[in-house]
Amino acid sequence: MKKILIIEDEESIRMALEDDFRLENYDVEVASDGMEGLSKAVNPGIDLIILDIMLPGLNGFDICKKLRTQGISTPIIMLTAKGQEIDRVVGLEIGADDYVTKPFSPRELQARVKAVLRRIETEPDDKAENLFRSGGLEVDFRQYECRKNGKEVSLTAHEFELLKYLLQNRGRVINRDELLDEIWGKDVFVAPRTVDTHMANLRKKIEDDPARPRLIISIRGVGYKFISG
Ligand code: CA
Repeated sequence: MKKILIIEDEESIRMALEDDFRLENYDVEVASDGMEGLSKAVNPGIDLIILDIMLPGLNGFDICKKLRTQGISTPIIMLTAKGQEIDRVVGLEIGADDYVTKPFSPRELQARVKAVLRRIETEPDDKAENLFRSGGLEVDFRQYECRKNGKEVSLTAHEFELLKYLLQNRGRVINRDELLDEIWGKDVFVAPRTVDTHMANLRKKIEDDPARPRLIISIRGVGYKFISG
């Protein structure tokens, strides 16, 4: 059962929405002001948030921005009052997934909710897990793209896999054998030096100064570590 959080201060609307969604077999949580809304919205069990803009305490825009800055990607549908229609671009900029203008029919909102949930489900991978961004380095694991200070960096397949593995295990020291097993495969014989050669090439492409690497550091006699950023 999908769980929906409704953050709306107008009691009549909040109660009507709560009933509508319960009838449609959703699990429903409600909040009647901004602070309560934010504290409930951070709960990872919430599948979608219906968020009013004008709220006491903390407004809907601020809640949305705060959640996105904290890396919480729960889908959000904003409720905007008539004459207060937000620009689609503004909505997307602050990280909302869609918005509905008051007054709306329950059916219209239900349809939007279903559409957003369907869209999320067809993208099974969490966006955050597919994108790494820190210290001028940007790696899109799904698109196999890497950028350094905004410039496209062309990596070989092995270099990309190495970087991906280091990033996924950042902060941990990884030895050459593990890298050989993970990147080249357990059954393939590859000289351990191969890892160093690929690592040197990778550093030339992503480090500001390859002679003094700051992203991928060597731990003498053990292996490599990506400094977590
Ligand atoms: Ca309101």
